[in-house]
Amino acid sequence: MFNHDDEIDKKMNISKESVKIISNKILTCNALVVITGAGISAESGIPTFRGEGGYWKTYKAEELATPEAFQKNPKLVWEWYDYRRNICQNATPNLGHTSLAQIESMASNFHLITQNVDNLHRRAGNKNISEIHGNIFWARCLNCKNVLPLDDRTKTQQGLKFCQICQGPLRPHIVWFGESYDTGLIHLCFESVKKADILLVIGTSGAVTMPEALALEAKKNKALLIEINPEVTTLTNLMDFSLQGRAGEVLPKLVPTQNKSTNQN
Ligand code: NAD
Ligand code: ZN
Repeated sequence: MFNHDDEIDKKMNISKESVKIISNKILTCNALVVITGAGISAESGIPTFRGEGGYWKTYKAEELATPEAFQKNPKLVWEWYDYRRNICQNATPNLGHTSLAQIESMASNFHLITQNVDNLHRRAGNKNISEIHGNIFWARCLNCKNVLPLDDRTKTQQGLKFCQICQGPLRPHIVWFGESYDTGLIHLCFESVKKADILLVIGTSGAVTMPEALALEAKKNKALLIEINPEVTTLTNLMDFSLQGRAGEVLPKLVPTQNKSTNQN
């Protein structure tokens, strides 16, 4: 008889045995850390930067997501962010996101570290999230440094946005290429990765260096490393399991179904 699940497994070259081992581990582990990149949101229709759709007008994403681009032409950069915020607003979390929310509700200590700025993890129901690249629905005042939501109260004039508190210019609350991370937040991520017995790395290419640094730290501390990505990446060699498929197809298979008591390693 035709079994859709078996067909997907065959296509993705993922064995039932691996799926069983991983979902058992998810259920019995003490601490689970997940790192996500743009790939997990691709199935929600949000383009990755390095894949197809990485261009807007004639610009490459990497040319606009920089402090230099904002300094040179803030109106253009705001226009691009308004366009992308609109895509994120209209997108819906996919099965990859909702599976991670289910996993958080079952796992003992769960921490989701995301490079994504699209807010889809929060909308799917995840709670313990570190958004290390910021959030596209927030802005920051260059004058008073307050972080403010972008909504109907945001003052917009000639394509630029201004602070409701001090009238200073706003910029997107995003960590751009060439900018530093929030050191406190990154410290917290390393601390949680050190304690993890499983690290899931989903939809990130490794072109950004932070996922690799976090994965190396987890490996040093003997965590089980699992990657979910349809492509081989520079991180694949570090992994104990590389599940080559789309996040929205692979993650639902990893959500544990049994009770903790019936489980062994
Ligand atoms: P990236 O370099 O991490 O590449 C995306 C990865 O996702 C690739 O390895 C690709 O093979 C993989 N992928 C594609 N479809 C997938 C799927 N269905 N399931 C699992 N994996 C899949 O990311 P990038 O696009 O170069 O972005 C760089 C940075 O820009 C991000 O880290 C993020 O901060 C920002 N960004 C965010 C969003 C978002 O919030 N959704 C989108 C684009 C870029
Ligand atoms: Zn201000």
